[in-house]
Amino acid sequence: MTAPLSRRELLALLGLGALGALGAAMPPRRRLSAFDLRDVRLLDGPFRDAQQRDARYLLSLDPDRLLHNFRANAGLAPKAPVYGGWESEEPWVGIRCHGHTLGHYLSAVAMMHASTGDAQFKQRADYLVSELRACQRARGDGLVCAFPDGSKPLDDAVAGRPFAGVPWYTMHKIFAGLRDAHVHAATPDALPALVALSEWTWNATRGMSDDAMQRMLDTEHGGMTEVLADVSALANEPKYLALARRFAHHAVLDPLAEGRDALDGLHANTQIPKFIGYQRVHELDGDPRYGSAARFFWSTVTTRRSFVTGGHGDQEHFFPVADFARHIGSAKTMETCCTHNMLRLTRALFAEAPSAAYADYYERALYNGILASQDPQSGMMTYFQATRPGYVRLYNTPEESFWCCTGTGMENHAKYGDSIYFHDGGDALYVNLFVPSTVAWRARGLTLTQTTRFPDEETTRLTVDAARPARATLHVRRPAWCGAMTVSVNGRPWRATAAPNGYVPIRREWRAGDVVDVRLPMTLRTEALPGVPNMVAFVYGPIVLAGRLGTEGVTPEAQIIKNERTSGNMLNAAVEVPSLVGDPRDLAPRNLARRVRPVPNEPLTFETVGLGRPRDVRLAPYFRLAHERYTLYWNVRDA
Ligand SMILES: [Zn+2]
Repeated sequence: MTAPLSRRELLALLGLGALGALGAAMPPRRRLSAFDLRDVRLLDGPFRDAQQRDARYLLSLDPDRLLHNFRANAGLAPKAPVYGGWESEEPWVGIRCHGHTLGHYLSAVAMMHASTGDAQFKQRADYLVSELRACQRARGDGLVCAFPDGSKPLDDAVAGRPFAGVPWYTMHKIFAGLRDAHVHAATPDALPALVALSEWTWNATRGMSDDAMQRMLDTEHGGMTEVLADVSALANEPKYLALARRFAHHAVLDPLAEGRDALDGLHANTQIPKFIGYQRVHELDGDPRYGSAARFFWSTVTTRRSFVTGGHGDQEHFFPVADFARHIGSAKTMETCCTHNMLRLTRALFAEAPSAAYADYYERALYNGILASQDPQSGMMTYFQATRPGYVRLYNTPEESFWCCTGTGMENHAKYGDSIYFHDGGDALYVNLFVPSTVAWRARGLTLTQTTRFPDEETTRLTVDAARPARATLHVRRPAWCGAMTVSVNGRPWRATAAPNGYVPIRREWRAGDVVDVRLPMTLRTEALPGVPNMVAFVYGPIVLAGRLGTEGVTPEAQIIKNERTSGNMLNAAVEVPSLVGDPRDLAPRNLARRVRPVPNEPLTFETVGLGRPRDVRLAPYFRLAHERYTLYWNVRDA
């Protein structure tokens, strides 16, 4: 059997080399791995369209402009002018996010290269890393940064002085970009650059007491724990795992590890990356507290604190769970970075304990948060996605915004291939998402092609290609929204009984030409705003349906904005938002079909029948309403 070796190779690719060596001597572990982006290709569909728009945006940006401040800080002459927005301008200078875009961009081009095979993206990754290496050599101590005052924000932070902005948040993006260039683009200098930067961090923080560290960590610090844990695995250097643990913020870790939701009032996107890091530490050293904190955080955010789309928060903060009704009118709900990071946490938790509940959330947030975040016309991306009834989505300018969500957005659409399929290092493959794609399962000599127009149709087909027959188990996810999934193999019904984890196992010897057909009947339902039973949203299968409220005053050009802080200040209009009237029993699933009917020949589109006041309404997938006014939630009142 070659399984242990190939598993080690795969684990090494995923940055788990140190554990992979141990794994060779152990029985197959149940932990799953996502397939490498290189092994998954998207086929025609909305996700590939989004990926291609992102690819065009990435190629339109100038690496030398992203490098401007890095070179200046290293005493080297910049080769091109600095970009605007968060990269250089007021009112954002105080947050010290200068250089964060380069980190996200490096991650994005590395992943885009792996996802498409296009050499242009590897050239970009290799060039950026070679330039960062040149900056490291010029400065001499491993640090590279783009702050306007050089290393001062970091120097102040580690000295225990008041410091400007969120320097560790920004540094995390640069670390992560180097990691991703190494893992996804095999960029030669990326790992040495990453280790040098980690070594600088080790030295800079070595003299700090634990109390001083904790005071520094009261300020947003991104995914420093996660990326240092990754470096420890990639470089096989345990001291970076110890450093990752020093970056654990106990004011948040400890209560969540004990099952206490202490998140009210906290900045949401500051917290999520911490828990991704705690889960990563748990993967590497088995610390149960870190693992239970990550699982509890995920549960409380997804079940108590999320809107129907899977997004959360208002003005970037977690609010008390009893206060949803007070926040629904905000134009600054659901920051897109938060959804990006919740998906990263979800896939990490899924890999440890494969359960359809994780994949259900992933699917919900992927369609209704991430796919919805990109303007199909310009390719630009949302910061907030407003729950304010009658509002519209707003998108960044290409070269003058460079928000956090522009950065995570560059990554989002480059990596759709990363959570469609998982494997267990043995003979099990998990089909998590119904996205048209192929996956090359090299360890088993199988290629799967998934053909589907989901969600516009409720079927998907998996076709097997194999040079020779191979035994394997396909685990097909049965979504919670699907009461009556059916499966057939080569035209014969397969008993579609899901295992307790929500997957239908299909174990057999697979041959070229084998076909698995899956029917996923979708039904319409309502979901109430948490704690507010008389405010409901419509959902069809995994797809959130929003009310179409016209385009008054809206133009695609006016939706492109520079300053995210002004969200909600423009494109307001007195839009009539109908209520739903009648007996609440009309909204029960068994009665809903009488009152909300499909519009013929328009997939996923519905209209209410005698339910809306003063008029009935038309519903369409929220993710498609890029240039229209919408509402996600409806007031339900007595007739
Ligand atoms: Zn953001």
